[in-house]
This record gives sequence, C-alpha cells and structure tokens, in this order.
Amino acid sequence: MSRVVLITLAATAAFLSGCQSVETTKPGVVGVDRDQRMMVSAEEVHSGSVKAYAQMMAEAKKKNVLDRDPAMVKRVQDITARLIPHTAAFRPDAAKWPWEVHVISLDEVNAWCMPAGKMAIYTGLIQKLNATDDEIAAVMGHEIAHALREHARERISRQMGTQATIGIVGAILGVGQMGQGIANTVADVTLNLPNSRLHETESDRIGVELAARAGFDPRAAITLWEKMGKLAGDKQPPKWLSTHPPHQERINDLRAYSEKVMPLYAQAKSSAAVGK
Ligand SMILES: [Zn+2]
Repeated sequence: MSRVVLITLAATAAFLSGCQSVETTKPGVVGVDRDQRMMVSAEEVHSGSVKAYAQMMAEAKKKNVLDRDPAMVKRVQDITARLIPHTAAFRPDAAKWPWEVHVISLDEVNAWCMPAGKMAIYTGLIQKLNATDDEIAAVMGHEIAHALREHARERISRQMGTQATIGIVGAILGVGQMGQGIANTVADVTLNLPNSRLHETESDRIGVELAARAGFDPRAAITLWEKMGKLAGDKQPPKWLSTHPPHQERINDLRAYSEKVMPLYAQAKSSAAVGK
C-alpha cells in the first residue's frame, strides 16, 4: 500500500471516530428537539463560512451590487438587529457570533444565512414581494434558525458520511487548501442545495418564535409564503424556492406555530409600549 493511501486511511479513520451526536439548540416554546450527528467541528464550519462570506461580499462590491440603497440597508439592519438578541432563547453562545447582514442589488427573490450568522437579502425579495417589516423578519428569522440549528454543518456531515471527503482531502492537500474546500462547501450547501423538509420545518418553527420575541407579527410567515406561492408560476420562479422547497403542510404548520407564539408577540409588544 502506498504511503498516501495509508495516510488517507489513517486520517479517515481518525475522522470517522470524531463523529458526535449533538443538540445544537434549546427547544424554545415551539419545542424543536432532535439529536444531530456531526462529523465536522463547528469551528471548521464557522471559519469556512467567514472566509466564503468575505469573498462573496468583496465580489458583490466589485460588481457594484453591495448595499446600494442606504435606506433599504438600514431597514434590513434594524430588523435583524432586533431579532439577533433573541437567539439567546435557543443558544446563548450565538450572541458572540460575528453577525453581519448585507443587501445585494439583484433581481432575485433570495435570502440566506450562512453559519456563524453571515446573512444576505436580495433587493428582488423585498421589491417583488413588496415585503413588510414583519415579512422581512419572517424571512430572516427563518434563515437565522438554519444557522442556529447548524443545518449546514449537519448537511456537510451527511455528505461526508458517504465520502469521508475531509479525511482524504485533508491528508492529501494539507490543511491550507482544506480551509478553502470547506469554505466552498459551506457556501454551496447554504446557497445552492435544497434544504430537507425536516430542516425547513425546524427553521419555520424557530423562525416564528424569534420574530414573535422581537415584536414582529409571527403570522407574517404565512402571508410571506402566500406571496411566494403567487410568484412560483412565473417564468423566473424565486431562487429562494429552489433552496427552500415548499410543501403542502407548511402553511398549516406555520399557522399552528405562529398561533402558539402569539403570547410572546403580545408580551414583546406590551413591553415595547411600556418602554416608550
Ligand atoms: Zn429554509
């Protein structure tokens, strides 16, 4: 057996034994509770994400599509700034993440949050849906929930379960290039590959709770999907739908869970009124 093969096998074995079962978030009022199998560390995924995001934003700036409309940027930043403190209800460590949001001037109906809280929303989503603040909060709450649940890390882990890619790539290429490999994979998983229905349902439920806690009407998630549905038959269906596959029970589930968090919304509204 060649030396490279031996190193590869050793690296793969070490890597496979590193598989662990974790619970990324607390269940919250909506009760999301599921063990997750992880084969890559949160640190690796987070640094891959930070790297990929910086590259993408530099690219957007070069193409002159980064944060073009100061009023829209402020609106999105204000909404996400209200949501972020409430991530503590699901995981206390998220407050220390390097949260960041940018508005990309593209006609696509799209938004995403990469691991470690690196977010973007496209002008196409805000304009084509004529989105209200509550609806933008529904989109971003849902995206933030994917990051809190570390769905990207879970999906990368699943891919690796069949390929043991990192062990092999890491052994042959060395750590430097592996970092770029993870950065590319994190970006691909977040931006291009469809989420599973299970991940979608978890993010829908956590998303409405985040919105409600921040004083946004959680029922806006329902009108958002209704608007999204109207665009689905267009020549250019929303990009968001390719990564967020709609399913029939979704609206019913959102209805039930937004109802469940209405007391949190009422509480947030009344404490905001007291604070005024
Ligand atoms: Zn989603």
